[in-house]
Amino acid sequence: MTPLLWPTHGFTRVSSPYGERIIDGRKQFHGGIDIACPNGTPVVAPFSGKILRIWDDRRWGGGLSMSLRRSDGLYIGLAHLSGIASPERRLVGWAVGQLINKGDAIAYSGGIPGAPGAGSSKGPHLHLTMRGPLKDRLDALGRDIEWHDRDGRVVIPEVRRG
Ligand SMILES: [Zn+2]
Repeated sequence: MTPLLWPTHGFTRVSSPYGERIIDGRKQFHGGIDIACPNGTPVVAPFSGKILRIWDDRRWGGGLSMSLRRSDGLYIGLAHLSGIASPERRLVGWAVGQLINKGDAIAYSGGIPGAPGAGSSKGPHLHLTMRGPLKDRLDALGRDIEWHDRDGRVVIPEVRRG
């Protein structure tokens, strides 16, 4: 499998991993990972593919969300965004159906409680969901997926609970 580009350059700490977690005393299933990063961190496309959807997720509290799909079906969803970036040299932001290249700036992270796009987020971070042909491996995140940064260096997400 082609290595994926880590979406938030310089921010590799996973503040909440995939799986069951307790929020406000209630058990819930976290369908992705939370990457700790300051509000406004540029988010780059982990692979070349296309923009599948851009929406305000009220159902799961994801707020401003964007999803991407690669030709083999690999899917990435991003949530709690503070904004959608624009393709290079364009004034208007990325739109559904547009082709993206790995490394393109596609959005900005958010998550400040109450801010536009933050949804139910309790603090700045990027939520990332992966689905696709290798679902089980992808869900565990980090063990079998190869991530690299824009300089080609291997990225090993630092997973820390709490
Ligand atoms: Zn999350």
